[in-house]
Amino acid sequence: MRSPIADYLSQLHGDLLKLTAGRPYQGIPAMAGADTSKFAIALATVDGHVYKVGDAGLEFSIQSISKPFSYGLALDDQGLAAVDAKIDVEPSGDAFNEISLARETGRPANAMINAGAIATVSLVKDAETPRFARILEQFSLCAGRELHLSETIYASEALTGHRNRALAYLLRSFGIIETDPTPVLEDYFKACSVMVNTEDLAMMAATLANGGTQPSTGVQVMSPEAVQRVLSVMTTCGMYDDAGAWISAVGLPAKSGVGGGLIAVLPGQLGLAVYSPALDAHGSSVRGLAASERISRDMGLHFVRAA
Ligand code: GLU
Repeated sequence: MRSPIADYLSQLHGDLLKLTAGRPYQGIPAMAGADTSKFAIALATVDGHVYKVGDAGLEFSIQSISKPFSYGLALDDQGLAAVDAKIDVEPSGDAFNEISLARETGRPANAMINAGAIATVSLVKDAETPRFARILEQFSLCAGRELHLSETIYASEALTGHRNRALAYLLRSFGIIETDPTPVLEDYFKACSVMVNTEDLAMMAATLANGGTQPSTGVQVMSPEAVQRVLSVMTTCGMYDDAGAWISAVGLPAKSGVGGGLIAVLPGQLGLAVYSPALDAHGSSVRGLAASERISRDMGLHFVRAA
């Protein structure tokens, strides 16, 4: 028997397929031709149940949705105070690739914009297991399956990522990054090039909703303190320069990526993920935004009850 939630999601999916605004991200050549007819929605509950509709198994690159998960790893590796010393927790109101560094210290405004995310990667411990392998493992543990890197997207990012390269060298000049920026950048580009599907993202979001414990495997991937911090920063900074409009309309911590993915988290309850590669001017998925707004309204997920 079909559940009412599955029926609801199918109806919503059909309605929003009609939205045709926006276009795929043009900044990374390997992503510029993404098929804009693709659209998936997945909801994962903290007890591990997944509801999905559309192209939920189709893989795409995680892009900026990597940022909260790398940030969680850095927070658990170094402790909150050490990470805070390098990366602030203030919304910048700027675009994702803005050169948003504090004038005197060079501290990036937050870990959800590129400057902060590149600094974050430098704070992930490069131990017996190399840094990127640890990042990939973290994402995989959250998804509940082994994820992989797209060499094609990674190569395309590395070829065109001049602005990120400039950011990394600026961070190095301020001493925010204390090592050679090149391997840090490589690992940042790789983190953005990890392939996920919409169901993976819903499970990753549900891991955050579940205080850092992956709902289906029961593995504690992140400490509750790190999760609390990650969700706080996602609330104020997760949606680029659209964070205010998002929190007003949807009322959930979230992160979008230029690959067309978007996650939102209802702490203690569920993770929502949407994929569709046509983006608005802020770099967020047009159908992703519309689906999140509708789901939040129809299911009453906004953190402030309207009635
Ligand atoms: N790899 C992209 C970049 O660094 C990620 C941007 C995004 O998803 O916001 O420019």
